[in-house]
Amino acid sequence: MKVSYSSDEEKFREEVREWFRVNTPPEVKDQTLGGSSLNHDPMIKWHKTLYEKGWVAPEFPKEFGGAGFSDTEQFIFNYEYSHSGAPRLKTKLVSLGMLAPLLLQFGTKEQQERFIPDMLAGKTIWCQGFSEPNAGSDLASLKLKAVSDGDDFVLNGQKTWTSMADHADWVFMLVRTDSSGRKQQGISFLLVDLTSPGITIRPIEALTDYAPFCEVFFDDVRVPKENLVGKEGEGWKLAGALLQHERLNAFPIGELIYSIDTIRKNAEKNRYRGKPLIEDPGFRKKLAALEVDCNSLLYTFLRILSQLSVGSAPGPEASFLKVYGSELYQRVMDLNIEAMGPCGQSWYNLEALDNSVHQATMGWVNSRSLTIWGGSSEIQRTIIATQVLKLPRK
Ligand SMILES: Cc1cc2nc3c(=O)[nH]c(=O)nc-3n(C[C@H](O)[C@H](O)[C@H](O)COP(=O)(O)OP(=O)(O)OC[C@H]3O[C@@H](n4cnc5c(N)ncnc54)[C@H](O)[C@@H]3O)c2cc1C
Repeated sequence: MKVSYSSDEEKFREEVREWFRVNTPPEVKDQTLGGSSLNHDPMIKWHKTLYEKGWVAPEFPKEFGGAGFSDTEQFIFNYEYSHSGAPRLKTKLVSLGMLAPLLLQFGTKEQQERFIPDMLAGKTIWCQGFSEPNAGSDLASLKLKAVSDGDDFVLNGQKTWTSMADHADWVFMLVRTDSSGRKQQGISFLLVDLTSPGITIRPIEALTDYAPFCEVFFDDVRVPKENLVGKEGEGWKLAGALLQHERLNAFPIGELIYSIDTIRKNAEKNRYRGKPLIEDPGFRKKLAALEVDCNSLLYTFLRILSQLSVGSAPGPEASFLKVYGSELYQRVMDLNIEAMGPCGQSWYNLEALDNSVHQATMGWVNSRSLTIWGGSSEIQRTIIATQVLKLPRK
């Protein structure tokens, strides 16, 4: 298979690469390795920088304020972005990466016009309220109740693991509007203003250096019915469409390949048995194997990209990228810790260490969660087995 870009695409690649080289502020570079989160204020500032360039939503049509890139241009853009060490935008993953495409597909014109421009400008931050204490992998078991009352729904119940809820303005959520049928029925998709009376948000402490997610409690919260997306009871179908976007965008491939370069640099600095670690045959073998695996993932991406370019939607194959990519990312972070030598063991004394060590340790910690969020690896393997390989369910 020969994979190459046209000369226009090559020119575009150079333009993107150069822009990130010049415009990424040094203080935010390398800050999101391994799935770490950039602090809130620098994240908003970075969002606005990309917005002003017109590049905050490469996948979006121009009439909605996006860059209107083709699928190939999007891939080139995302690759060069993540390969530059520029920080990932969590603001974007949930709002522009997941909700906005869904609103374009299922939302009303009013909803599109009301919500999408502020997402693009970074004026409203969104979070995703799907999981509940007893509804994670088995999401259809969710119980948070929305009872119809005049022009409103009244919400009671709890969401959990809601990333960034403590910084967000709005949440899109799955709620139960009917409990009489199968559990996948009677679920609806609602947009909820987090400043509504009756909402309590409690950050959950984690091993990371920030609280990545929250518990969110709803106590008689009134939500106007105009905030329903799609029809009442259609939420399960909408959630399926949205999660495929999440899985396809689960991790930036360029960042993985960039991480290989970081490992190489760290192994050049560290010494093992009197020589730079990079000269150790055992270490080189592990690094080479990872590099080959990262490149094989890259080519799988390109294969899916060529399907998208002829009009196919991302299907259950997105689960393959999620499983392989997230597990590969963890292996990359493991080897980075090894490349740091004794510093890679550091934990409590992070303040005293240089930033690259901090990123290695936190990157490793954060990468543990990649095989859980967006659907755990076990669940993705079941999807691959039943929907891609068509194996019978036991
Ligand atoms: C960093 C992070 C951020 C998150 N952000 C959000 C967010 O913003 N919004 C949101 O709604 N949720 C969020 N989540 C929640 C995430 O979607 C759930 O953690 C995930 O779906 C798993 O659900 P659970 O934690 O309830 O685990 P469980 O479903 O209880 O699973 C526990 C274990 O059992 C395994 N298991 C469960 N069922 C099966 C089965 N049928 N077959 C085989 N194995 C099975 C799982 O793979 C897992 O290993 C986040 C999670 C993390 C880690």
